[in-house]
Amino acid sequence: QSQFGSLAQQAPDSLLGLIRLFQEDQRPHKIDLGVGIFRDDQGLTPVLGAIKAAERILVEQQESKSYLGPVGDSGFVDLTARLALGDDLATSPSLVGLQTPGGNGALRLAFELLAEASKDSAVWVGSPTWMNHFPLIASTGLESRHHRFYDPATLRIDFDGMMSDLASAKPGDVLLLHGCCHNPTGATFSSAEWAEIIALCERQGLLPLIDFAYHGLGDGLEADAAPVRMFVENLPEAIVAYSCDKNFGMYRDRVGSLFVKAATLAQADAVRSQLFGTARAMWSMPPDHGAAACRIILSSPELRSVWQEELDTMRERINGLRQAVANSLPRLSAVANQRGLFSLLPISTDAVRLLREESAIYMAPDGRINIAGLSEANLAHFVEATSRFLE
Ligand code: PMP
Repeated sequence: QSQFGSLAQQAPDSLLGLIRLFQEDQRPHKIDLGVGIFRDDQGLTPVLGAIKAAERILVEQQESKSYLGPVGDSGFVDLTARLALGDDLATSPSLVGLQTPGGNGALRLAFELLAEASKDSAVWVGSPTWMNHFPLIASTGLESRHHRFYDPATLRIDFDGMMSDLASAKPGDVLLLHGCCHNPTGATFSSAEWAEIIALCERQGLLPLIDFAYHGLGDGLEADAAPVRMFVENLPEAIVAYSCDKNFGMYRDRVGSLFVKAATLAQADAVRSQLFGTARAMWSMPPDHGAAACRIILSSPELRSVWQEELDTMRERINGLRQAVANSLPRLSAVANQRGLFSLLPISTDAVRLLREESAIYMAPDGRINIAGLSEANLAHFVEATSRFLE
């Protein structure tokens, strides 16, 4: 009698499978547009110079690795709150913040909190969204509901469709939003649309949960944060799941934080104790190293400006490639106005397979491409091969 005999095989992660296929591919002109990481023009994802410098300081100065409290690195939490939300909102007594294992950990903790607060709240999610949102929501027992978001015909947001679907959301439901750099579509709301979404949340009593995983990689630190701050400022309650894994290039170090704005100080205390208890049952404490390195950067004017320049370079490379794709392929002209690492090509899953088999171009089965996987050297091959399949 085996304990594991009843377990079914889970579908393998499609992107991890692609990594292996790509590594085995011997064709010199192969292009990897699969995994969502920043790449430079050489296709590399080097450790940022600011991080290298901060890590040297950390190794030199760290005196103990004894446990930190449940907040994690409180300096890191304070500095990322200020970075994301600005000084005023970050220091409001009704804002609760703690360090988490990446944006993923922040999201999981947020959904756990929401499930504990109200089992019957639905989480509204635009279609399509980052694939991991669904297991994160489902693992807490919350129900997810879809609203229209992206129109593959125009490669733009179907804002009217979204608003009309959200009209059936109930008070207390949660609206999951990407702060900037939408994964997988890159589609962005205008400031007028952001304002309409805030008004909708207010009118219908919806709680916004903002997944803010690419701060600074869209239009810059201030511009990307502006809509997020509007939610936190204008609504009585709001949640922000923040990641430093992309904007500091810390992917495997798992650096993130969660911020919850509560309506009252008493509720903030309850939220805090709930988050501490849930985190303790899941990971006890978040990993320290990456957050400590980010704290060193954010608290040093010199390192901070080194980091901001590196962030600017990453963003400008992505946006330059977006413009180049739009210039070369008229069907993809909307790509120039999208932001972040990803765009969703209007092609079939068969076309995705043919591009891999015939042209050595690797992308997710849904046609999501990592723009940063393109380069001056491979753009012409990408344009030529892809143009045959665009719908
Ligand atoms: N949200 C979105 C939209 C993402 O794309 C990702 C990373 N792929 C995350 C959250 C999680 O980021 P992290 O690596 O910090 O857990």
